[in-house]
Amino acid sequence: MIEGKTFEQWKMEFPLLELMVGYEPVVWTNDKVHSAEAALAGLSLGEADVLEAEARLKRFAPYIAHVFPETEDNAGIIESPLTGAPDMKNALGKMYRAPIDGELFVKEDNKLAVSGSIKARGGIYEVLKRAEDLAFEAGMLNEMDDYKKLADKEFKEYFSQYSIVCGSTGNLGLSIGIMSAELGFNVTIHMSDDARAWKKEMLRAKGVNVVEHSDDYSKAVEQGRIESGNDPKSHFVDDENSQTLFFGYAVAAVRLKAQLKDHNITVDEDHPLNVYLPCGVGGGPGGIAFGLKIIFSDHVHCFFAEPTHSPCMLLGMMTGYHEQLSAADFGLDNKTAADGLAVGRPSGFVGRLLQELMAGVYTVSDEDLFRMLAMIYVTEGIKLEPSALAGFMGPAVVRNDNENTTHIAWSTGGDMVPDAVWQDYYETGKNLL
Ligand SMILES: *Cc1c(COP(=O)(O)O)cnc(C)c1O
Repeated sequence: MIEGKTFEQWKMEFPLLELMVGYEPVVWTNDKVHSAEAALAGLSLGEADVLEAEARLKRFAPYIAHVFPETEDNAGIIESPLTGAPDMKNALGKMYRAPIDGELFVKEDNKLAVSGSIKARGGIYEVLKRAEDLAFEAGMLNEMDDYKKLADKEFKEYFSQYSIVCGSTGNLGLSIGIMSAELGFNVTIHMSDDARAWKKEMLRAKGVNVVEHSDDYSKAVEQGRIESGNDPKSHFVDDENSQTLFFGYAVAAVRLKAQLKDHNITVDEDHPLNVYLPCGVGGGPGGIAFGLKIIFSDHVHCFFAEPTHSPCMLLGMMTGYHEQLSAADFGLDNKTAADGLAVGRPSGFVGRLLQELMAGVYTVSDEDLFRMLAMIYVTEGIKLEPSALAGFMGPAVVRNDNENTTHIAWSTGGDMVPDAVWQDYYETGKNLL
């Protein structure tokens, strides 16, 4: 029995489950999606929260430019390019025998400064907010100050009595670890067994405490939550429930709006925007989708993309049971090369919030992730990690009959992958083409 129903009963109610338990790729379209305006009006979170996060990141920009010189060119704003990918579009159409109507772009979060993944949005933002809250409380900082002063010794000393803790499959740990260590916080990252060895080594080299768990992601998060809860000077970054993380991710939508304008891309009733977002626990892609629905309303269609072995958000949203169900409940093994997406239980906070806003969820096999990893390198010269490819399957599998559709595949990570590791990924993919 799973939540009081037999597997047969679950399958009768949700026939896609039959394919899902056999690890077959599926596309689920959300029939609860309706007017974005009406859906957003019913939520307690909204545009003001996103704009507040954007304003906070602007206050921190002089500090970021100072401590991470690679962000100087962009004045301390950590943002990724939006890049046209016409050759990848053609290659996808050929490979999957599904010619794609409209243009394909890549939103290259793999190139985000500081930590090379989508986690540089939410993770860094939450650490900055924590630092600001503490510094305000101590009377050491106010909004009008030049935040560059946060790099001074007195701030580092002050923050060193506080800790930041989180659970991570890898990339969240990198972004929280790097940012926290830079500010002077004590930082501990609980890593699941899916986390790559090089990610753990990189963090340890930066002075981050890495605790390894033989369990999966949810257990690593739970352990971090318990340990941090016992210490009032400790802040737990809750990947499953944090609104702060979520708003940090949502700022991406404001930035994307400006980039679309720079590319002369119209988004309106006759020019829809389809955005495909690799999904693990849901906070990153969910935050971005939330921001996009606020800005583009019914003209944007957002899809989560998950590995066939870890379709936790699909299970949660399709059934409406959210975090009450895990992939393991249905015998799914949660084993995937897409370490950033290897999550067995989704964020209930994100699934519920977006229940009427997401256009759908689809799943991708690891083999296809590797194939596309090789394809995007051959066609566009872009180096990604396996998780970051899930979005590219969207244009090939999601029904679209509008030739004016702009497709954006969100490429969520890759820049920090060591060359030798990436080369292995690439060989694997090439051999599958
Ligand atoms: C974390 C991560 C995601 C998904 O973000 P969630 O907030 O876990 O849904 C996607 N891609 C990569 C590379 C990631 O590290």
